[in-house]
Amino acid sequence: MESETATRPRSLWGLLMLSFIALVLVTVAAPRVRQQEAEVPDPTPSPVPTRQVHRRPNVLGRPLSVARHNAYLPLVTVPERTPTPTPTATFTPTPTVTPTATPSATPTHTPTPYPTPDGQARGVWVPILMYHYISVPPPDADLYRRDLSLAPATFEQQLRYLADNGYMTVTLKDLVYHLTLGYPMPERPVILTFDDGYRDNFTHAYRLLRRFNSVGTFFLVTSVIDENHPDYLTWGQVRVMHQGGMEFGSHSYSHPDLRGQSVDYLVWQIVGSQEAIAERIEEPVRFFSYPAGSYDQQVIDVLRSAGFWAAVTTEQGDWHASGNPYELKRIRMRGDDTLEQFAAKLEYDWEDNNP
Ligand SMILES: [Zn+2]
Repeated sequence: MESETATRPRSLWGLLMLSFIALVLVTVAAPRVRQQEAEVPDPTPSPVPTRQVHRRPNVLGRPLSVARHNAYLPLVTVPERTPTPTPTATFTPTPTVTPTATPSATPTHTPTPYPTPDGQARGVWVPILMYHYISVPPPDADLYRRDLSLAPATFEQQLRYLADNGYMTVTLKDLVYHLTLGYPMPERPVILTFDDGYRDNFTHAYRLLRRFNSVGTFFLVTSVIDENHPDYLTWGQVRVMHQGGMEFGSHSYSHPDLRGQSVDYLVWQIVGSQEAIAERIEEPVRFFSYPAGSYDQQVIDVLRSAGFWAAVTTEQGDWHASGNPYELKRIRMRGDDTLEQFAAKLEYDWEDNNP
């Protein structure tokens, strides 16, 4: 009885102390737990790429060669694990793009790691369109210049066609991430590339791309920019376009034939130009366009060792497989292409016809 009354206050006191200690522990430990939770990778659902089904509207009235397309499909495999880090870009195909809408958001640049291939073989149809001038050629322009020039109105028509038909512009970086890591692609991707870096790429192409909330990839010849040549972009314009979400690549220092050249020469032409661009856009330059489409194995070796991820050729085609990123095919845009011809080029089965 006595001991009971004596112990009761003690156990009450002990209980209070225990509660206090517990409270202190909880308060101290809780932020730590929360911090640990924060460090746990975000369990975002893995970007399991849906099987690439290349749906082409049959503009030409020509039956799609489904059998041939399906023959490629086993190459497209679904990775089992989420590639780390979690992809920053998830494509939500927006088939209804209002062409008149002003760009709602400036695309932001998030630093992305070097895509170490996960070993999966993949392939995807992406038309990579090749443009040069976006301007009406001067009256005395020769055939060559005319062929390389698209009137701004024509280019605008094409952008409207892409938007109206559910195409979505992506970058070469998106393509590389898809091929190496299985990052998602929109259902109808298209890449718009511009060679040589003409001044009208800023005054017309960039202006129209922004209006359609689209993105383009511009390959620069850097010697003419350094010389402030009036026909070519300025570094200031390059910076503005880059901040506006455009992608930049190198087209060499002075546009020579790179075949059969010494390594020193190639490094000067390729790495020199790569560094000049990287310095201005404050981002590594990962893509190359072969001047006049000419290259040999040594050029590819220099590109690879200089940290380039991919290169585009002037070969015609739109099927891209992992394992050969330095010989990406493109589709040439011509000055006198009608809108029907433009649509036909997008739908054309290049691989069937150009084996
Ligand atoms: Zn060129």
